Amino acid sequence: MSTATYQDSLACGLQPQPSTADAGALTRRERKTQAARAAHVRKIKQLIMGSAFIVFLAAGWFYPLIGYFIPLCMLLGIGIAAFQGRSWCNWLCPRGSFADSLLSRVSRHGRIPQALRSTPMRLGVMGLLMTVLTVQLIRLWPDPWAIGGFFVILLTITTGAGVILGVIFQQRSWCYLCPIGTMSNWVGQNRQPLHLEQSQCRDCGLCAKKCPMQLAPVGLREPGGMNQRGDCLKCSVCVDNCPTAALSWTTAAGK
Ligand code: SF4
Ligand code: SF4
Repeated sequence: MSTATYQDSLACGLQPQPSTADAGALTRRERKTQAARAAHVRKIKQLIMGSAFIVFLAAGWFYPLIGYFIPLCMLLGIGIAAFQGRSWCNWLCPRGSFADSLLSRVSRHGRIPQALRSTPMRLGVMGLLMTVLTVQLIRLWPDPWAIGGFFVILLTITTGAGVILGVIFQQRSWCYLCPIGTMSNWVGQNRQPLHLEQSQCRDCGLCAKKCPMQLAPVGLREPGGMNQRGDCLKCSVCVDNCPTAALSWTTAAGK
C-alpha cells in the first residue's frame, strides 16, 4: 500500500496498515515522518470527537432524545468489533476520544490496576449496568422522553466514573470497564491481530510504553502471545513507534 493510500485510510477512520515488507522498505526517517503524521491525524480527529462529546452530553440534559445515542453506539461498536476488533473504541467512540484528547491532560498517567482489567470486575460492572438498564426500561416504557433521559443520566454517571478513574490512574482506565468494550473484546478477540516479526524485534519495550491500553505487543515474541489482545484498539500507535518496524497488521507473507 502506498503511503498516500495509507494516510487516506487513516483519515477515513479505517485501519489498514502497510505490510511488513512496505514498512521495511521505508527508511527510519520516513517511518518517523509517517508516524508523526498519523499521530497528528489521530490527535486532531480525537480532539474534535472528544469536544463534540462534551457538547452532546450537556445538550442531552435539555433534549433527552439525544440519549438514544447510547444504544446506537453499543450496536455500532459491537457490530464493528465483529470485523475489526475494538477499533471503534479508538477512532469512533466519542468518550474514548474525549479520554485521549482531553482527559489525558489531567491524568496522572499511572498504571491501570490489574483489578480493573480482570474478568470478574468487568463482568460485574457489565452485569450491574445491564440490570439497571433493564429495570429502568421496563419501568419507563413506553415514554420515549423518560427513556432518553435515563440514557443521558447513565452516560453522565459512567462518564463521571471514567473521569475519576482517568485522573487517578490513566485516561483509558474506564475502557476496561465499559460494557461496549467488554462485549467488543469477546466478539472481536481474534479480528485483525497484530503481528510481530521476531527477528526484527530488539526487545526495547517502546511498544508497551506507548500503548494507550497499556498492553504489551512485545509479548507476541512468546508462544502465549500478548495478554488481553482482545482489548487492542487497532490504533497503530505501537506499529508507528516501533523503531525497527517489527510490528505490522499483516505477516511478511501477507496473511
Ligand atoms: S517497539 Fe518494536 S523493537 Fe521494541 S519491543 Fe516493541 S516490537 Fe520489539
Ligand atoms: S497494542 Fe498497539 S494497536 Fe493495540 S491498542 Fe496498543 S498501541 Fe494500539
